[in-house]
Amino acid sequence: MRCPNGREQRKLDYTLRASIPTEPKGELTLPGAATTITRLGVHEQALTDSIARARRWLVAARRVVVLTGAGCSAESGVPTFRGADGLWRQFRPETLATPEAFARDPKLVWEWYDWRRQRIAEAQPNPGHFALVALEQRLGEGFALFTQNVDGLHERAGNQRVWRLHGDIWLLRCTGCGHQEQNRTTPLPELPPRCGRCGALFRPGVVWFGEPLPADVLQAAFAAARRAEVCLVLGTSSVVYPAALIPRHALEAGARVVEINLEPTELSAQVHLSLRGRTGLLLPRIVQGAE
Ligand SMILES: [Zn+2]
Repeated sequence: MRCPNGREQRKLDYTLRASIPTEPKGELTLPGAATTITRLGVHEQALTDSIARARRWLVAARRVVVLTGAGCSAESGVPTFRGADGLWRQFRPETLATPEAFARDPKLVWEWYDWRRQRIAEAQPNPGHFALVALEQRLGEGFALFTQNVDGLHERAGNQRVWRLHGDIWLLRCTGCGHQEQNRTTPLPELPPRCGRCGALFRPGVVWFGEPLPADVLQAAFAAARRAEVCLVLGTSSVVYPAALIPRHALEAGARVVEINLEPTELSAQVHLSLRGRTGLLLPRIVQGAE
């Protein structure tokens, strides 16, 4: 199958999967920029210059696509899958967020989700979320936010043009009859919860490793990435596929790609600007000129 531009269409794999992380390089040179970022971070003048450059790109842009990941939610206190707070009891989240784990021990998997739901219920959107609301208000339909987060913090902050790549932790989906319902009760009164219509087990309305992402959302993300003039990649390690392809589509199509993350990522060396730091600190400076 060929694209209209004649290039081979990549065979799409909608399955949620993580690539094997590579050791981050000690130093990254940015394409088209004289700035060199070290693992210790750019010094303040270079950071200010980079922020000013990103700000100019955003001000000139009419179409912006945003990809957010766990780092944005972590700044609000939502536990990530990786890092120091990644473990729950003695379990690694990657081993619980699978259909196999649910088939083996639905109660255990639900105990973990019930704990996550409680932590998320206590979390509040942070300044990074609100900067994205300001950006959407400015751009209107030129704005599209695709998130890997299942917590709903973007919507709570006020964003409307949000599409969920990995589902919704507040959605219960029946494994028997397919009935779905929103449920924000924390903690859930009975684990595992059961469908009121047919009595079968509910599962969380999220995408697990090995499961396909919603094809319509992913296609919309790729299309938005290919139309965008600027692509923001925020708080994501860019190792979870296929979401990690979104900025790569934007790069291919000629968008300016700006990454903000605490750590260097597999994407850092390819993007136009890669900033080390918290989205909640840096993004308000880029979007709103906040100091
Ligand atoms: Zn049911």
